[in-house]
Amino acid sequence: MSQSPTTKVGQPMPYPLALDYVEPDWNRIPGFKGVSVEDWENATWQRKHTIKNLREFKQVLGHLLPDDLAESIEQDQATRATMSMLIPPHMINTMDTADLWHDPVRHYMAPALGDRRTDQWANHPMASRDSLHEHEMWVAEGLTHRYPTKVLAEMLSTCPQYCGHCTRMDLVGNDVPQVTKLKFVAPQKDRHQQMLDYLRKTPSVRDVVVSGGDIANLHISQLEPFVSALLDIPNIRDIRLASKGLAGLPQHYLQDSVLQGLERLAKKAFERGVDLAMHTHVNNARQVTPLLGRATKKLLEIGFRDVRNQGVLLRGVNATSKDLLELCFMLLDHAKILPYYFYMCDMIPNSEHWRVAVWEAQQLQHDIMGYLPGFATPRIVCDVPYVGKRWVHQLADYDREKGISYWTKNYLTSIEWGNPELLQKRYEYYDPIYTLPESGQAWWRAQAAAQGSAREATHAVHA
Ligand code: SF4
Repeated sequence: MSQSPTTKVGQPMPYPLALDYVEPDWNRIPGFKGVSVEDWENATWQRKHTIKNLREFKQVLGHLLPDDLAESIEQDQATRATMSMLIPPHMINTMDTADLWHDPVRHYMAPALGDRRTDQWANHPMASRDSLHEHEMWVAEGLTHRYPTKVLAEMLSTCPQYCGHCTRMDLVGNDVPQVTKLKFVAPQKDRHQQMLDYLRKTPSVRDVVVSGGDIANLHISQLEPFVSALLDIPNIRDIRLASKGLAGLPQHYLQDSVLQGLERLAKKAFERGVDLAMHTHVNNARQVTPLLGRATKKLLEIGFRDVRNQGVLLRGVNATSKDLLELCFMLLDHAKILPYYFYMCDMIPNSEHWRVAVWEAQQLQHDIMGYLPGFATPRIVCDVPYVGKRWVHQLADYDREKGISYWTKNYLTSIEWGNPELLQKRYEYYDPIYTLPESGQAWWRAQAAAQGSAREATHAVHA
C-alpha cells in the first residue's frame, strides 16, 4: 500500500513541522502578567523592562526559575561569563519556561556554570579575546578591512541584548569580572567620519556591513546619515545592516520614526542600484514569532532587498540537523527571512561547551542538504583566524587526532598587503579537545604541561 504524502516514513526530517507560529503568551511569566498588548509591542516599554542582571531575571521569572539554575547562573557570572546579562522581555518570552535548564534560548542568553565543561578543557588553550583579530585589521577605529572588497563597520559597542557566546566579547557590552572590555577612543561621530573618509578613498571596497554591537542601538538620526553617506560613494554596491535586535527586539523595527528613516534609505539605495539588506541573528526556531515576521515584512515592504539570517552553530542550542532545519523552515515559511549562514562558534574564552568540531559541522551540512530550496540552504562556515569565512568542507588538511584543521586563502588581509608569500601559508583552526580521541587529548595535555613547565622556569629566572 502506498504511503499518504503526509505520512512518508523513514525521512530523517518530517515536514510539515509540528511547531506553531504564535507569539507565546507572556502572561505565563510572573513579571509580565497583565502587560497589555499595546505595552508589549512598544519598543520603549521593552527597553525599559529589559533584564539587566540576575536579580531582575529572578524577579521576572519567579517560581519558573529553579533555584539551582539561578545559583549556577550566579556562579557563571562570577567565574566564567564573558558577557553581562541583558535580555529584552520579548526574548525571555521565547524561552521554554517549563524547562529553563534545557531551553536553547536560555542556554545562550543566560549561561549557567552547570552548562559549561568542568574538565581541563573548559577553555581551549588557543582561545583568545578578539579571536578573529578584527582590531588588528582596523583601518580606521572600528572599521575592519579583512577581505579584498568588503569591510565591517563597528558603529557602536552596545546591543539591545547580550549573547553569552558573542564573538566580539572583547569590545561589546559592559565589563564583567573576567573581561575588561576594550573601549573605542575617538568620539562616535568622529569615528563614523573616519570610516567614511577611508571608504571614499578606497575604491576597491564595494560592500559594507554596518554592524556593532547592534545597529538597533544606534539612533535612526545617526544611522540614516551614515548609510546615506555610504550610498553617495560610487564604489559601494552592497550595504548590509546587521541587527540581532530584529529578532531580540522586533518592536524597535515597528516604530514609525525608525521605519521612515529606513524607508528613505531603501528608496535612495534602489534609485542608485545599491542592494540594501538586513542581516539578523536567530539561533533557534523558538525565536521565530509573528512579531519578528511583522517587523521583517515591514522592511521588505519599504524596499529592503532582503532580510537574511546568520545564526551561530551552538551545541545545546541548535547543533542537530533537526534543530537547524526547523529554524530554517520557520524563518523561510513564516518570517520571510532567508537562511544564509551558520557560523561555527569562534574560539573565544570559555566557549568549549558551545563549540562543535569541524567534522561535526561537516556532518550537519551534509544532513541539512536537500530539504530547503538551494538558495535558502544555509552554508555552515568556519571563520578561520587571519583567513575569514570558509565553508566547512573547504579545509586543506585535517588532523582528526589532534583536532587541528588547516585552511588556505586566496587574498591578503589589510595587515598582509605587500606579503604575497602569505598566500602559501596554512592557517589553523582547533576542534574542542574533549571531542578528540584519547591519544589526541593526551597530546594536548602534554603540550599544556610543557607550557606550564616553561612558564615556571621563566618565573624562576625572573624571581
Ligand atoms: S547581538 Fe551580536 S554583537 Fe551583540 S552580543 Fe549578540 S552576538 Fe554580540
